[in-house]
Amino acid sequence: MLAVQLIRKKRDGGALDDAELRGFIAGVTDGSLPDYQVAAMLMAIFFRGLDDRELATWADAMTRSGDVIDLSRIARAKVDKHSTGGVGDKISIPLAPAVAACGVAVPMVSGRGLGHTGGTLDKLTAIPGFRVDLSVEQFTRQVDELGVCLIGQTARIAPADRRLYALRDVTGTIESLPLIASSIMSKKLAEGIDGLVLDCKVGSGAFMKTIERARELCGLIRAIGQRAGVRVTCAITDMAAPIGRTIGNALEIRESIEILRGGGPVDTRELTHVLGGEMLVLGGVARDPADGRARIERALADGSALEVFRKVVAAQGGDPRVCDSPGSVLPRPRQRDELTLPPGRIAAIDSEALGIAALLLGAGRRTTDDTIDPAAGLIVDGYLGELVEPGGPPQVILCHGLAPGDARLAEARALIERAFTLEPPGAPSHPPPHGSPAAAGSGSRILEILR
Ligand code: URA
Repeated sequence: MLAVQLIRKKRDGGALDDAELRGFIAGVTDGSLPDYQVAAMLMAIFFRGLDDRELATWADAMTRSGDVIDLSRIARAKVDKHSTGGVGDKISIPLAPAVAACGVAVPMVSGRGLGHTGGTLDKLTAIPGFRVDLSVEQFTRQVDELGVCLIGQTARIAPADRRLYALRDVTGTIESLPLIASSIMSKKLAEGIDGLVLDCKVGSGAFMKTIERARELCGLIRAIGQRAGVRVTCAITDMAAPIGRTIGNALEIRESIEILRGGGPVDTRELTHVLGGEMLVLGGVARDPADGRARIERALADGSALEVFRKVVAAQGGDPRVCDSPGSVLPRPRQRDELTLPPGRIAAIDSEALGIAALLLGAGRRTTDDTIDPAAGLIVDGYLGELVEPGGPPQVILCHGLAPGDARLAEARALIERAFTLEPPGAPSHPPPHGSPAAAGSGSRILEILR
């Protein structure tokens, strides 16, 4: 069939058969379909959706548009974690070595950050020398030897997604759940995994603004996984505030090392324990999530997770002394400015605004070719529900290398001030503050787990 006939069929609510779907993705991959026809199909899918069979075939064709890594020679179970993206989300960094220390392999292919959420790769490359551009052969060998390898997406992984994503970005079709689900899963299935834990963020600053949308996305991702023979557990987690106390690459590595040493902010620790526990269940080494969680907690407390991380840093060209003395190895900001909020109780935090403020300071990129200042970012010491008292310590420290009169600095300060909603001190207190060490055991970000 001609591409235009497929577009018409989808536009009118018809279901495309497997050969039509695979033929269309082949044309996306080899460039034989022009942008306007691919864009028209994306818009037709945006309005008409894909049924379960169409979605599985579309995702499978995207996965097979490039290399599918063969990890079958690795005996251990292979389980990855993917997050839909959150401000301050550094969980992969302590999580992957902790899971590997417990006996499950983690082949992790991550993306760079774009916009207000940072990417795992940018955080890792804040460690001097750390390389994320390993070959597939090096990747496979390291997963076998150390149980974990963290690399960037290569041009050979799901190339159809690259083209589709770029077109979605400029045609108003990003927000289609089947297109998001197939985009995420095509890249994950290409890693050759047996299981996946999806951390689906919901709330301000997250891709999914409501829990209903998050549930729907998780349902589609689980359906794709089921048809591909990959078990998927989805955690829906709250993004009502940044994760942990830091936003920015070197700052987040520091916080990740605190977690790997058994410390760190309570919300960041809890996410690592819970997501890691679920990965161990999928990998068959834990009886149930509680057992999995306990094993992860032990690996963080006894130093075995940190040892794996040390080996990973050394194997990938980084300076392993970062594990013992992060302050002397990681790049330091040239400037640190303080920001103190007016007195009151913190009733809401706009994570997205804080993410954008960090980006303005140099921690992120607006376009794919922007460069990053690895030392830039924010240290946030104001938590939801916390009382800001006059004369107390600053709530935010801005780390940057900008000149005092730089317009980006003023803009970042204004964004941070607006990001915090303060109520009169006497107003009723809010649920437990996220990220606050004082909230140990109570400040849960986990809203639902779909197994
Ligand atoms: N992340 C992806 O990889 N793809 C999407 O479409 C959205 C988020």
